[in-house]
This record gives sequence, structure tokens and C-alpha cells, in this order.
Amino acid sequence: LETRKREILAEADASGVKFLRLQFTDILGVIKNVEVPDRQFATALDGKVMFDGSSIEGFVRIEESDMFLTPDLSTFRIFPWTDPSGEKVARLICDITNPDGTSFAGCPRQTLKRAIEQAGSRGFSMSAGPEAEFFLFQTRDEEPTTETHDAAGYFDLTPVDQGEDVRRQIVLMLEQMGFEVEASHHEAAWGQHEIDFRHDDVLTAADNVSTFRFVVKNVARRNGVHATFMPKPVFGVNGSGMHTHQSLLRDGVNAFHDADGPFELSRICMNYIGGLLQHAEAFCAITNPLVNSYKRLVPGYEAPTHIAWSERNRSPLIRIPATRGASTRIELRMPDPSCNPYLAFAAMLRAGLDGIDNDLDPGAPVSKNIYKMSQRERRSLRIDELPQNLDAALDQLERSALMRDTLGDHIFEHFIEAKRREWFEYLQQVSAWEIGRYLKVY
Ligand code: GLU
Ligand code: MG
Ligand code: MG
Repeated sequence: LETRKREILAEADASGVKFLRLQFTDILGVIKNVEVPDRQFATALDGKVMFDGSSIEGFVRIEESDMFLTPDLSTFRIFPWTDPSGEKVARLICDITNPDGTSFAGCPRQTLKRAIEQAGSRGFSMSAGPEAEFFLFQTRDEEPTTETHDAAGYFDLTPVDQGEDVRRQIVLMLEQMGFEVEASHHEAAWGQHEIDFRHDDVLTAADNVSTFRFVVKNVARRNGVHATFMPKPVFGVNGSGMHTHQSLLRDGVNAFHDADGPFELSRICMNYIGGLLQHAEAFCAITNPLVNSYKRLVPGYEAPTHIAWSERNRSPLIRIPATRGASTRIELRMPDPSCNPYLAFAAMLRAGLDGIDNDLDPGAPVSKNIYKMSQRERRSLRIDELPQNLDAALDQLERSALMRDTLGDHIFEHFIEAKRREWFEYLQQVSAWEIGRYLKVY
């Protein structure tokens, strides 16, 4: 440990790093940081930097407002760019610790670590590969719009698509930060993009999601465009998902593969799928946490609406990518990129483990397009719907003992309280749709 600290200090010094960002996420998944100047680096590495926890959304408990940031030394990275005054900045991802050294109950990263331990006690480790989609929008007077460059370019007959350039720069930045980018492409909607990076152990994958969102937004801003992970920014076109590929390993071997199993999937895999299906309604508020998330989960836009799995079709909640052997995995298609990745991955993992513990049967795969089935056909196949809005999702979450245990009382309660407030605020709004629909008629 002390050696690693010395290495980091030496590396920071050699690269002329002037500031260190101690990074963490709040319950709502918003990336936060406390920045320290080089004089304080050693203190920061020792986990002695304190911050006022009560100033952070979701960390509201006045009586215990002094928190410590305990860095995970393996997450040290020097940002490949300089800050506006030309200085080099590095970051460390941190856990949040109480003054007495115990882990703070409101720290999402430690929620995920607890889920990882639960998997570990059963001999499993989880690997996750998230695919976060996002939009790049034009800005006007520094304010984001919902206009896209490719759409504008199309009308302007400009051959250049600034969006593609920005995406390429994002990929370069990510690679400089140690990401292994596997693919990057334009998505279905105008202005919509996807960058896929290599799957990793689930904690690293969650750290990567938060870093990814930060880098995407940062590079976009430097190019005068606005990147958003809002799930459904434009009516009438695809929203942005964060499909999550996942598998369990046991003794380093993919535990989802079984050459003799149905579809070459193991019983563990089947049970894991069974667990995800069983608890999908309960964890939906965690993987799809915004009022807006539910405007994405509607028929017709390649996002799931029903609780089913398929070994080929894309419309269900869970799809099984064609590869087998060591890369056997399942793809959960409901999460969106506004979620807190630590909480979302913890929820998925615990749901899957619960499926294994209780030998849950996922039922037969659905190979037909669910969107096109009649209500009756769906009912006969017992295909349920995902919650239709945040309110319904919160009702489901609140009833789930598994999710309470997964998040821990503190996060469970604060999350629901914050989200209920968000829903209530939304409920009182009068939308453009209502004006359009009612103003003249009544
Ligand atoms: N954008 C779609 C979604 O909302 C997914 C498109 C795809 O299959 O990549 O989930
Ligand atoms: Mg996609
Ligand atoms: Mg996908």
C-alpha cells in the first residue's frame, strides 16, 4: 500500500499534476468531487481529506456531516487534458467513510461492494459490459438545445457531421484514460451515439460508467456541443439505453456456459435470468430512475416494455447474444444511462443471485416480437409489463425486501424519498402536450 502511494506521488510529480480530484457519486448517480492541490496529495492518499457530507444531495444527515474520502488507489488516472489554466489534473475514485473509519451507509460504491461480497461467498464474481448511448446536441448561447448536428447538417447540405468528429475525440480520450474501446457507432436517432468499451469486473465497470459519462460530457463541452445521457430527450425517436451485458465467473471460468444445456446455457445462467425477470419490476426504479426514463420504455423504439427473455429477438428485456464459450453472457436491455451504475449493478447482481439461491425458472424464451402480440397472447404467455412510470416503479421498489437489503436502509429510504419528491414535482406541471391537447377544445 505504502509503495503504491509512493508510486502515485512520483507519477503525479513527474507528470506535473497540480490538482487531484477525489471522485465519488451521490445516491442519484451524480458524479461529485473534492479537489485538492499538490501540497495535499499525500493527505488525500492517506484518506484524510474530509468533506461536508450534508452539502451533497442524498447524503443528507446533518448530525453526521463530516465524511472522509477513502481513495481506491487502483483508480488513479491522470486526465489527458489540462484545465483552463493549463494545469494537469488527476483523479482517484473514493469510498465514503465515517469519522470513526466505518463505511458510510450512503456510499453507493460500497453498496456494490457488499453485493460483490455476497456473490463471492457463493464462489461467483460478476463481469459487466455496459453500452451507454447518448445524444450530442447543439448549444446556443452556451445553453443546450435538443437540435442535433447531423440533422442540421442534413438541411444545410454540409458534408461534415460534427457529431462524428466529437465521438472520435471522445474515443481517443477514453483510450488515453485506459479504456479499451471495442466499438463506437452512430445510433438510430439523429445525434445519437454509442461507445462500447470492454467488459470488466463489475466494480471497475461501474467506475468506468461514471468516468465515461464525465469524459463524454467534458469532450463535448470543449467542442461546443452538449452531451446528454437523459433517457428520452426527443419525442418520436429512440431514447438512450444502457444495455448491460453480464455474466458470472466461477474459478475464472464462465459459469453461464454449458455445452449440454438448453441453448448452451447453464442452469446457473437460467436461474440468473429467472432472478432478473422476477425482480425486474422491483429494481426498475434503480435502473430507470427518472420521470423521463419511462418515456423511453414504450413500444416501437427498441427499448423493452415487457418482462421476458429471448435467445434471439431484441424486443424483450433480456437477450442472449449469440457468442458462447468464455463469452457467454446475457444482455439486460432496460437500464438507461441516467442510473447510478453502482446501485444498478448491485441490484442486477442481487436479483440474479436470488434466482440462483431459489432455483428460479425463467420459463420459455419468447422468440416472437412482443410489441406485435395481442394483449391476450401476452397474457396467455404470462408476460408482464414493466412499470409504466416512476411512481409505479417506486411502489414496486418499496415492496421489495431484496432491494431494501441490496441498497441498505439508508440508501433505500433516501432514494425513495428523493424520487417521490421528483415525481410529485412532475405531477403538478402542466405540459406542452396538455396545452396542445386541451386548450382549444375545452
Ligand atoms: N436505443 C435503444 C434503447 O433505448 C436500443 C438500440 C439498440 O439496440 O442498440 O434501448
Ligand atoms: Mg445501442
Ligand atoms: Mg445492446
